[in-house]
Amino acid sequence: MAVLPGLVNGHTHLSQTFLRGLADDRPLLRWLKEVIWPVQSAMTPHDLYLAAKLGLVENLRCGVTTVVQHHKLPGRDHVAAAAQAAVDVGLRMLLARGWLDQGPSGEPLDHILAEMAWLHETWHAAPLAPQSWGEGSRIRIAFGPLAPWRCSDDAMRETVALARAWGVPTHIHVAEAQDEIDLLLARCGKRHIEWLADLDCLGPDTQLVHAVHVTDAELDLIAAADATVVYCPTSNMYLASGAAPVWQMRRLGIPVALGADGSGSNNSQDLLECAKIGALLAKHATGDAQALLPADLLRMMTLDGARLWHGGARGQRSGGRSQETGVNISPQPSAISHLPPAIGQLRVGAPADLTIVDLDNARCQPVHSAASALVYNASGADVHTVIVDGQILLDAGRVTMLDEAALLADCRVAAEQLMRRAGIKKN
Ligand SMILES: [Zn+2]
Repeated sequence: MAVLPGLVNGHTHLSQTFLRGLADDRPLLRWLKEVIWPVQSAMTPHDLYLAAKLGLVENLRCGVTTVVQHHKLPGRDHVAAAAQAAVDVGLRMLLARGWLDQGPSGEPLDHILAEMAWLHETWHAAPLAPQSWGEGSRIRIAFGPLAPWRCSDDAMRETVALARAWGVPTHIHVAEAQDEIDLLLARCGKRHIEWLADLDCLGPDTQLVHAVHVTDAELDLIAAADATVVYCPTSNMYLASGAAPVWQMRRLGIPVALGADGSGSNNSQDLLECAKIGALLAKHATGDAQALLPADLLRMMTLDGARLWHGGARGQRSGGRSQETGVNISPQPSAISHLPPAIGQLRVGAPADLTIVDLDNARCQPVHSAASALVYNASGADVHTVIVDGQILLDAGRVTMLDEAALLADCRVAAEQLMRRAGIKKN
């Protein structure tokens, strides 16, 4: 058995659990416009509750203890459904409420701010947490602007100001595909990271999902701001988006977390599989067999992933120096060292979030290097036991908080009805 700090899935969209396999083999914008957005808009709160619960059980089975759920859905009932699913499964959830104010389905800024205030009061810091959860809530919130080209300058500035006043992070897709970059260039002449930096919206509290198409100058901006990047290699390959230059990011001291992304572009939530794919993609893209090593991937899934839950700079960063500009990127003294130990590490006093992986099988034996076996051999199916804050949620392969067979049956019925309502014909 290998014992790890609980894994952090740094980016997903749980509504897509009902959408996997529906829109395969298309590039990003066609994938979104032709299937993902229309079906998501037909989901009831009950559909969302079941899809989220199923996705969370899959995450749990794959060894995940903390999920970042990036979520743009119609109303409060939908948001509450996703949060309730996390309560019922027991995982930690950073709920990044999606918003956009440009183009179809854009919301006025005052509505976005009012909805975030409701979410902050209702779910952040856990008035609804069961007593048995001990000292802290397992639900935190974040602002989730969908992508720079769908957000106005004013809305971005104001939401980030409010997020900083509350001490919560901002989680945003950036530079996933070249056509998205072209859309923002056409609007204001700036690339995604430049735009965030010019608005003073790039900092240790910023979580940049994808960052595939970024220039050296943009990498320096990310490093200087101490922002976190979320690497989603499976999704990036699936949508033919490209390879994020994570090897360069790590050289610059940029913390990089790992994300599965939604099941519509993966099509699973197996983070160990993503780790292997992430390592292989980096080797393939660079021609360098050492571009990313198993230890790098383990750090992404644990210590660096934990930064997302804690909302910003916390713990160590490796430091580095830009080859492009010579900007010195020194480790910052922690301003919050008085805080209790973070998740993402095995340490006395840290929350007891643990993932235990069974390596005693034909796929993994003999084990010469635990890190190699975990990243290159093991998969979610080898996860044996998962513990969150001392509570066993997966016990030797059995989900403890709910009747899994009944959940699967309910999901089959609800997904069938959803496809009929959305007018989607299955292949
Ligand atoms: Zn995403």
